[in-house]
Amino acid sequence: MTDTTQTDTAHTEATHSEVAHSEVELRSRLTPEQYTVTQQAGTERPFTGEYWDCHDDGTYRCIVCDAVLFMSDTKYDSGTGWPSFFETAAEDVVRIRTDTSHGMVREEAVCANCGAHLGHRFGDGPGPHGHRYCMNSASLRLDQVRLD
Ligand SMILES: [Zn+2]
Repeated sequence: MTDTTQTDTAHTEATHSEVAHSEVELRSRLTPEQYTVTQQAGTERPFTGEYWDCHDDGTYRCIVCDAVLFMSDTKYDSGTGWPSFFETAAEDVVRIRTDTSHGMVREEAVCANCGAHLGHRFGDGPGPHGHRYCMNSASLRLDQVRLD
């Protein structure tokens, strides 16, 4: 019997790339719902997520890559059952692309840093730009600001 020498080093563990996250890593780190929403453009059921009714102060970060996406002072009650914001934390942190799934033309919102699906952007928001960023709680992590 020939011994099975370890020639099985097929998967190249690429040097730390901040942006690309492997499927294996993400599946082990995220909940199934977080994975489905961020990686497969899923949508959590309304009124079920962690943040739709959250009024705590803080910074909402991408659940996948930790990028800062929204600030709590731009969050508002949209009545939709999803966490909604009228403005992003900075101009280029959320990327908008056209989503034609489900027979509709919508603006999909993704994390500009890692491409995670966040939700959709609509044009009926209350802010100066009229934006409503309709997000999934599963895409976000609230980093609570502590003043001490
Ligand atoms: Zn991200």
